[in-house]
Amino acid sequence: MNANSFDAIVLGGGTMGSAAAWALSRGGKKTLVLEQFGHIHERGSHGGKTRILRHAYAESPAYVPLVQRADELWRDLERETGNCIFIRCGGLEMAAPGHSHARDAMQSAIEHGLAFEWLTGAEGRARWPMIRIPDDWDLFVDPQAGFVLTEPALQGMMGMAVRLGAVLHEHEPALEWGASDDGAWVRTETATYRAATLIIAAGAWAASVLSELDLPLQVRRKTLWWLAVDDPDLYAPERFPVFIADSDLGQIYGFPVINGLSLKIADHTGGQVTSADLIQPPAVDKESLNVRSLATSLFPGVTDRIVDRSVCLYTMTPDAHFVVDRHPSHGNVVVACGFSGHGFKFAPAIGELAARLADNPTEQTPPILSIDRLLPLDRLDPR
Ligand SMILES: Cc1cc2nc3c(=O)[nH]c(=O)nc-3n(C[C@H](O)[C@H](O)[C@H](O)COP(=O)(O)OP(=O)(O)OC[C@H]3O[C@@H](n4cnc5c(N)ncnc54)[C@H](O)[C@@H]3O)c2cc1C
Repeated sequence: MNANSFDAIVLGGGTMGSAAAWALSRGGKKTLVLEQFGHIHERGSHGGKTRILRHAYAESPAYVPLVQRADELWRDLERETGNCIFIRCGGLEMAAPGHSHARDAMQSAIEHGLAFEWLTGAEGRARWPMIRIPDDWDLFVDPQAGFVLTEPALQGMMGMAVRLGAVLHEHEPALEWGASDDGAWVRTETATYRAATLIIAAGAWAASVLSELDLPLQVRRKTLWWLAVDDPDLYAPERFPVFIADSDLGQIYGFPVINGLSLKIADHTGGQVTSADLIQPPAVDKESLNVRSLATSLFPGVTDRIVDRSVCLYTMTPDAHFVVDRHPSHGNVVVACGFSGHGFKFAPAIGELAARLADNPTEQTPPILSIDRLLPLDRLDPR
């Protein structure tokens, strides 16, 4: 094998690229990862330090096996790296009348026989006196939920891949790629690399890297907020869960206080349509009005004083489900994109699925993740 020749190339060394590199390397594949920036950066979709992991999945019960596998792999990664990556503090879904996220999560839990609780507002207030839960809201508790620390997670996955022989080229954008029955290639300013298989995990840049497919992906600017807390101990992970509050203000979610100072909160809905290539201006106060309004009404110990903020990108598909599938024209190219603002928790399971699709021609992706649903009929693979 010459220096520019590999078993697999991963285009994009972010969340799913790091996970794919870890999975490929575990399978003994000599892997090259090409990343246009440094390994962990703020320009894509993995900024902001933490990500919620839920087992009872409101978006569709089809995701439950995937999150169960991801949960196992996150714990393997903790054992292998010796670092804390996942904190299982439990999850609380709160839904105002007429909003269904909590009920949809319960459906998913019932379908998969997951442990859960369904509480009244009074029961919720007794358990979490630091939350002012209205009487008429639905409350769903997912005891398996918690949050992933993104930097140790990404460093861990890529670090393990490199330890197993993967090569990471940072600051080396892929300019062009192609594939034939003999294999795939990627050209950068430095070299043209070849491999038997290629996994494309380009995040918010996926639509341009895969321009031939004309995928209906929409990039959205999202803002994250850290609000000062009066008594941080009250909102620590030992006492306070990750939460989603589904109401007229949006699907607002947040995390326990882990920096001794502030509570991180954001809205999953909305967000200005933008382009991945645009350098995002910093978040401005008026983008936080709904999250601050919810925080001060629901959490008596949380102030509306902003102590930090950041901007991050969602890459939405029209149905908000992911794409993890073979390229319709190239069986040796796998596409992992369109993670629609909820992909991080699944990363190690997505990496594993992408590696299996690349390696095994009989492997099928779950229908909910198929690329066909986003392609015009004339682009569907006739196979
Ligand atoms: C504000 C916010 C909150 C979120 N909250 C949650 C949550 O609580 N729970 C959850 O599960 N998920 C959450 N997500 C979603 C999750 O973070 C994303 O789904 C996930 O990070 C997407 O991973 P990715 O690999 O597609 O993108 P990225 O991690 O951005 O990786 C894509 C990489 O490809 C690289 N790349 C692109 N083009 C090229 C090229 N030509 N050459 C080389 N490299 C290239 C990019 O530089 C980038 O590093 C959230 C996302 C955001 C933005």
